[in-house]
Amino acid sequence: MADSPLPETDDRTPIENPALYQAGKQLFLKAGSQILRAWSAEGVKLCRDIVPATGFVCGVVGPSAKILAMQEITADELLDECKQRIGRIVEARPDAILIQSITDVEEAVLCLRAARESCKLKVGVSMTYGSGVEQAETVMGQGCEEVTRRLVDEGADLVGCDCGAAVDESVLIVRLMRQATQLPIAVFPDAGQRELHDDKIVYVETPQDFASKAPSLVAAGADIIGGCCGVSPDHITCLAGVVRECGAP
Ligand SMILES: [Zn+2]
Repeated sequence: MADSPLPETDDRTPIENPALYQAGKQLFLKAGSQILRAWSAEGVKLCRDIVPATGFVCGVVGPSAKILAMQEITADELLDECKQRIGRIVEARPDAILIQSITDVEEAVLCLRAARESCKLKVGVSMTYGSGVEQAETVMGQGCEEVTRRLVDEGADLVGCDCGAAVDESVLIVRLMRQATQLPIAVFPDAGQRELHDDKIVYVETPQDFASKAPSLVAAGADIIGGCCGVSPDHITCLAGVVRECGAP
């Protein structure tokens, strides 16, 4: 089980309000998360301080704000930028690196190479799908199976999917990934579909509904289940209960 990034505590908060950041992460540990994800060196350090010896801290590398395919950045520049970001994160001693929320496999491959050149840690790559007829493509139109095979060829230690898909769509994505690899698979679904309520974005799935679908993710081949948008500590509490019941590790 992995935590979900709380938007209000996962961006500038590690620097501006470390106590609030750690309190948010503590809620996920209490809920049953065994893996904490942090998007910065500061976040990794704060997670390191609170994670139990059996727990795991992943330093997360998210997408660049610039798009390769639009030539907003060159491959060499992106590689350098990733190496700098990963270098800072590695100094904070994470247990592993997770490249996450990437929508272009070419960017993912460059991040993976940068991680390989920056550290000896295990490196996972989680892509954002949710496009295409079956919602199993990236916004770039890259299909989940071909992306997975490419990441395996490039030496990823784990593959995954996060964001852009709820549990229902993620089941198919995980199944397709499983057909393409025997590597560990991580899945971080959103809490249902995104809806606009009074100008506020909400995710509609209750913790119980979210968790009740977890066995289908396990059956499809998921090894690590976490959460993305709209997933609260209560969702993780329910998820932990259901996953334990269905006998998954
Ligand atoms: Zn999301």
